[in-house]
Amino acid sequence: MSNPFLPPALPRPRLVHWVDLHMHSPVSDGFWTTETLPPAARALGIQVLALADHDEVVGVPAMIAACRPYGITVIPAVEISIFFQTVGYHMLAYGVDLGNAALLDTFNRGRAYYNTMCHAAIDELAHRGQPLDPAKSPQILGDAVKIYHLVAALIENGYAANMSQAYGLVNQAGAHYGWSLPMEEAIALVHGAGGVAVIAHPGRAEPGFTAATAAALDGMRAAGLDGIECFHPYHTATNVAFYESYAQHHGMLISCGSDTHGPGQSPRMLTAWPAADCRALLERCGLTVAGEDC
Ligand SMILES: [Zn+2]
Ligand SMILES: [Zn+2]
Repeated sequence: MSNPFLPPALPRPRLVHWVDLHMHSPVSDGFWTTETLPPAARALGIQVLALADHDEVVGVPAMIAACRPYGITVIPAVEISIFFQTVGYHMLAYGVDLGNAALLDTFNRGRAYYNTMCHAAIDELAHRGQPLDPAKSPQILGDAVKIYHLVAALIENGYAANMSQAYGLVNQAGAHYGWSLPMEEAIALVHGAGGVAVIAHPGRAEPGFTAATAAALDGMRAAGLDGIECFHPYHTATNVAFYESYAQHHGMLISCGSDTHGPGQSPRMLTAWPAADCRALLERCGLTVAGEDC
């Protein structure tokens, strides 16, 4: 019998009005922590969050626990590096089982891939006269070092003035982004872990990103894609109209996310998106969305 004096394990708001379904913590390349995110979200009236670190779910349990006293529900999520027909994209997964062995094994392999590469790059940087001081950059210790940790360390150690310079040095030292899953494999993995697969920011087209065309979306849908992140700070009004109408026409889920990487990081600011805009996705995650008249 449960203890009547304890609050329920997962307080779910009876009716959800405001959400933000895409953000990052120091587990990947973000700065939102268990201390900063819950109060900032509550100040905006956000009731449901989805921490979606790159190729990692290990930060989610602590964020669920940290948000509980604020009455904020955290949907277990992750942003997976994928490729479809040789083009790289990001894919969000929502509602995954955080203990799913295949999911954890996959991310363990990705982590090991980058850790080996990054420790070799740390050695190479030292060899080139740019030793990184772990006292200044503790993130370069241990067995979970990724490229963005090296980038931050180069800036913290004074070898690079900005991210662009730091990436150049990291690449010269032999570390490059490269680990990603075929989209079909990633979708199967997410479905196997009980989640849904949503293409992230498909309208992003700056260097390093390829916008997803209708033809690409047709192929992704055939591969099992469940939804589209229609609302994102980098999407133009034209992007939103196109992706929303595509999703509605094909009965796909719609997501809203700020993709915020930390407090005050304009233009990707923590945002209270109307839950009604991603009603089906929230309902798929077991939440009840307030009606439009509420
Ligand atoms: Zn992304
Ligand atoms: Zn992201």
